[in-house]
Amino acid sequence: MSAIKQNLSEIKSTIPENVTLVAVSKTKPVSDLMQAYEAGQRIFGENKIQEMTEKWEEMPKDIQWHMIGHVQSNKVKFMAPYVDLIHGVDSLNLLQEINKQALKNNRIIDCLLQIYIAEEESKFGLDQNELNKLLTSVELKELKNIRILGLMGMATFTEDQNQIKKEFTHLKSIFDSIKTLEIPNCKLNTVSMGMSGDYQLAIENGSTMVRIGSSIFGGR
Ligand SMILES: *Cc1c(COP(=O)(O)O)cnc(C)c1O
Repeated sequence: MSAIKQNLSEIKSTIPENVTLVAVSKTKPVSDLMQAYEAGQRIFGENKIQEMTEKWEEMPKDIQWHMIGHVQSNKVKFMAPYVDLIHGVDSLNLLQEINKQALKNNRIIDCLLQIYIAEEESKFGLDQNELNKLLTSVELKELKNIRILGLMGMATFTEDQNQIKKEFTHLKSIFDSIKTLEIPNCKLNTVSMGMSGDYQLAIENGSTMVRIGSSIFGGR
């Protein structure tokens, strides 16, 4: 068995069935992704729209492509025909652009709202007030071609497990506080948190979707 297949099957054996595995393939060649594909993996995560689009063009069409990186409004149009889930949405403006491009493609595009949970200034995301404002805004209700499935967050890059756990718990508690809201274009069932180094901790603390790259494909 190839190393990628081996890694994938080891990781899968540690993930409960109700947790979705996104194989994060950014910077890796199509030949590496195809090994994961042949082992049954169908969800891939990329953080650059151009790279994702090139891979989408080349690879089998039953793959679900997740955009996990920060999204610039002017590039949404390139992924709108095919993207399955956009994890890093952090503004109403961006949602409006995604809605516009989804409408052009006659589709509904699923999104997650990125929440700022880390202590690092460099990370993107909404805080709880901004989230509440967005979810209760009249503008959101008008966006018929997007659907919000839940929240996404990235923990601080640290060895401190207590710190990471605190941040995951925080994200889960924000999710719990909004999940019963009745909003027409929301179907809140997803908490995307956990990467190679912390996915088990994330699952223990309520993750339903993990984004794993280097533990499957090797370092970048
Ligand atoms: C790169 C990346 C991952 C995967 O990171 P690994 O440590 O390689 O598992 C997960 N989420 C986001 C947003 C990323 O950019």
